[in-house]
Amino acid sequence: MSMINFEPAALVLTIFCLIYSLITKRKQYTFSFESFKSIMLNRHFVFITLLISVILSAATSVFSVYLQSIATAELVFWQYFFHEIYYIFHDALSTAFALYIMNVTSASAGRGRRFFLIFLIPFFVSEILVFINIFSHIVFYMDDEFVYHRGPVLPVLYVIGLLYLILAFVYFFRYKKAISHADSRAIGILMLLSAAGVIIQALRSEIAVELFAESLTLLGMMIMLEERGGYTDAVTGALNREALISTTRRLIGTNQSFNIVLVKLTNMDLFTRLFDGREMDNLMMDVAAWLTSISSEETLYSYRSENFAIIYQRDPENRSTEAADTILERFGKEWKSGEATLKLDVAVSIVRIPIDISTTEDLIEMLTLGDYKKGSGSRLVPYDEILASRHDREIEQALRDAVDNKKLRVWYQPIWSVEKQRTIAAEALLRIDSEMLRQISPEVYIPIAEQTGIIRDIGLFVFEDVCRLLQSGHLQKLGLSYIELNLSVYQFMYDDLVELFENIRKKYSIPVESLNLEITESASTSDAPIVEQTMKALRDLGYTFSLDDFGTGYSNLKELISSTYTNVKIDKSLLWKADHNDNISSLLEGLIRLIRSLDYNVVQEGVETVSQLERTAASGGNLIQGYYFSRPLPENDFVSYLENEAKKAFEAKKAVEA
Ligand code: C2E
Ligand code: MG
Ligand code: MG
Repeated sequence: MSMINFEPAALVLTIFCLIYSLITKRKQYTFSFESFKSIMLNRHFVFITLLISVILSAATSVFSVYLQSIATAELVFWQYFFHEIYYIFHDALSTAFALYIMNVTSASAGRGRRFFLIFLIPFFVSEILVFINIFSHIVFYMDDEFVYHRGPVLPVLYVIGLLYLILAFVYFFRYKKAISHADSRAIGILMLLSAAGVIIQALRSEIAVELFAESLTLLGMMIMLEERGGYTDAVTGALNREALISTTRRLIGTNQSFNIVLVKLTNMDLFTRLFDGREMDNLMMDVAAWLTSISSEETLYSYRSENFAIIYQRDPENRSTEAADTILERFGKEWKSGEATLKLDVAVSIVRIPIDISTTEDLIEMLTLGDYKKGSGSRLVPYDEILASRHDREIEQALRDAVDNKKLRVWYQPIWSVEKQRTIAAEALLRIDSEMLRQISPEVYIPIAEQTGIIRDIGLFVFEDVCRLLQSGHLQKLGLSYIELNLSVYQFMYDDLVELFENIRKKYSIPVESLNLEITESASTSDAPIVEQTMKALRDLGYTFSLDDFGTGYSNLKELISSTYTNVKIDKSLLWKADHNDNISSLLEGLIRLIRSLDYNVVQEGVETVSQLERTAASGGNLIQGYYFSRPLPENDFVSYLENEAKKAFEAKKAVEA
């Protein structure tokens, strides 16, 4: 019986694939061997294992055939040796194949160490059988003529191999929807190809075609899956950010008009706490599969986790609006994930190219945005709103730059005492010496600093700068008792706040009475226990507090009877409204009297006119802050202001005495 041996061809082909895969040195070939699980989940590692298994099976098989032809008693050892190696790697082949299919379809995502150990049991059994064949000759043996024979246990190896192939098919059909149509078609064809090889060789053992079919399969995988692997999202199988960028670059480069529908899941953090990784991955796959189904003509991109994009080139305006409507309608309903029924929220936006965005660079930047205001429920987010979040991003950038490059300044606004008829305190207010932020109110950028954590550095800077200003004692000699600093509730979130404040205060030897901390009314009513604890710690150290912006929130009487504060600062808006509204005017008057009767100082902010001053004073308000006396001033101007005031008072006193 003459042999038709395709194995040398299989060997050459797979060596080529291995060399190609390794020299392209794609990022994904940097393996991390952190854990057993991470190795099992690394599809590229599994792919390389597949190649090496085919190469070694083919090489040893070719050698064995050669040895058979020149067989002598001395060579029997080598005959056994090569057959052993052949079976070791041939067993690995079907196992790695099943694993590869599981990784490509993400069927393995979220599985644990135990799953993989169980998965590998049949493989270990077949490897043990091959190993003990050295003594037992149950898998194969050489007869007296040095001719190779199949042993009685060999079918077990085939059954195990078949088991893995069946597993690969099962996972493929079960998780097919998680991968793109193109990928699933490619995998389907390749699986049929290698199955054909196995069947032909099983039926006609003289045609050694199995390894060749497998090497063709690997070549196909390399071209169709591995090459594209860098462009797909591991979880959903949708094309990834790189793919989206390269496609749009091509479209923009060829002056095409198109729309991109962006779909961002906005309430996923709610569920990440409830579900494990695998359930979340399944949910993402379901969402991706549904999004693929509504636009079968288009490709789905997942440019960030929980963020999808679809490009509409044909009739873009109508079709993208239609898609946005369909998506919003679907997300108005529930999603089933395993046992759970979830209500997923999405923000859907339509970006028109080249109307909204005309360069790839702008598009890339836009993709990084998208932490635009989270509303509850699903909604259409107009492109303008994405742009607004870009503005926030620019402010954040400018804030970071200001912190790094020492552009923070502290200005001071005098606080005037009705009783003493002079300035006795001041509020420290942040100013930023940058082109952009000079034009923007702290009321706009302070919240951004709070959300991004930059407030921590800002808060410490202001605290230190105030201490530095007070260190010489000059201001105190001019009659200044204390300086008020604004403290954001976000600063409390760092548990070293008290320690840092105390270190700075001691460094400049500032008595704690010279400082007063302003807390806004809304912050003071926050439920966070850390706020209460930290305030208590500071109070125990002797710090005093002002309740800022009183009258803007749900003015809380609890705060007024808690004796946490020494000063209550009434918001300027209430004062200004009182100018035109008698009811508010009476309310304000009563409020000031009430607060005074509870022994607090009342600081009225925003006093701009003499009548506002008189009304406040008449109601018993004892401290005044506002443009009527002075706007916030840079440090030097503020010192001059105090010096002037002291000089005038001195002259007035002299005039009275004279
Ligand atoms: P705030 O703490 O209520 O500060 C008072 C604000 O009212 C200041 O605005 C001040 O310039 C303004 N103001 C005072 N009197 C008048 C007046 O008569 N007329 C008018 N039109 N405005 C007056 P500013 O400096 O723009 O600060 C706004 C807010 O930004 C502050 O409100 C405070 O909440 C926040 N902020 C400022 N600096 C800091 C800081 O260093 N840290 C923190 N956490 N927040 C700060
Ligand atoms: Mg304030
Ligand atoms: Mg205020």
